[in-house]
Amino acid sequence: MDPSITVDLYSDTITQPTTAMRQYMCYAEVGDEQLGEDPSVNRLQAMVADMLGKEAGLYLPSGTMCNQIAYAVHCQPGDEVIMDRTAHPLHFEGGGPTPLKGILVRALAGDRGVFTADQLTEALRPHSRYQPRSKAISIEQTSNLGGGRCWPLASIREVCERAHSAGLATHMDGARLLNAVVATGVAASDYASSFDSVWLDLSKGLGAPVGAVLAGSRSFIQEAWRYKQLLGGAMRQSGIMAAAGIYALEHHVERLAEDHTHAQLLAQGLAGLPGIALRPQDVETNIVLFDVAETALSGQQFVEHLKQQGVRFSLMGPSLVRAVTHLQIARDDIEYALQAVEAVLDSSQKNKGSKEILYSGFSS
Ligand SMILES: *Cc1c(COP(=O)(O)O)cnc(C)c1O
Repeated sequence: MDPSITVDLYSDTITQPTTAMRQYMCYAEVGDEQLGEDPSVNRLQAMVADMLGKEAGLYLPSGTMCNQIAYAVHCQPGDEVIMDRTAHPLHFEGGGPTPLKGILVRALAGDRGVFTADQLTEALRPHSRYQPRSKAISIEQTSNLGGGRCWPLASIREVCERAHSAGLATHMDGARLLNAVVATGVAASDYASSFDSVWLDLSKGLGAPVGAVLAGSRSFIQEAWRYKQLLGGAMRQSGIMAAAGIYALEHHVERLAEDHTHAQLLAQGLAGLPGIALRPQDVETNIVLFDVAETALSGQQFVEHLKQQGVRFSLMGPSLVRAVTHLQIARDDIEYALQAVEAVLDSSQKNKGSKEILYSGFSS
């Protein structure tokens, strides 16, 4: 961790394995994963498959690889996968399914990451030799750029039913699925039941250093294995890392509720500060998005000034800032962060009318 940062709200990816997790990893039983002989990997895969109500699971180095492999299994070159315009694979996966397998992405204008069955129907291509084939849908639970919004179970069911009846495969990017589970009380297997493929990330709020598990039918996982091998994602004694995932699933799921409480506290505090607007207003899980357009600072300035105060946020747009709560954020940290924001806003208010002065570092 950057020692100058006291409170790191940049992302839940910055979580550090706890001492207990490291100790558990030390004693993991391991074997050659490629041969299917790593007991810890096998156990983790079975745990996740069971939790998601699927036949099989596949341990992969990252969530990005889970998405890419799932699309590659579901689609052929020239096929189209339909997802919300804010979806992670569209913006943060280096071009995503296109370079890997020539798969096109069709982006829908959903509401904070959630699109409707009717929007899906409108986007479906007619069978025509001129057009790409609509082949799969992908939904993100929770929606990251939707501010941690949970896809409601009823919407999931409706959208997936519509997709299946049109012959499309259904995929859930469940990077933060367990945040939705803890926030709503809906079981992971209920959220997952309409999907042909689904994965969850172990390296975000759950606090493991690496890894994600992709789940689906036995035949889907068999195909997914081909791509894991092809991409170099097949490992050896990876049980040492998988053990961190087992530990996380056993000890770090229910505590996600604390992250949600901290996000609420932060949001309430921010909403009371001049010039700050929550986007969206309601915080459902561990992500808080807010707009600083009405303050005297640009998003970049806001983030930089806060960093000097030891508080790190991430910049998501010219005036859009994101805070993510996680395993290493305590209630005191939220108070510290709010005080720092207040102090930064106060001092920028004193220099008001001179956004240029704050930029002076560039000109002199
Ligand atoms: C983080 C994230 C991913 C990618 O997971 P990595 O483990 O970082 O590769 C995919 N989708 C969403 C919604 C994410 O937040």
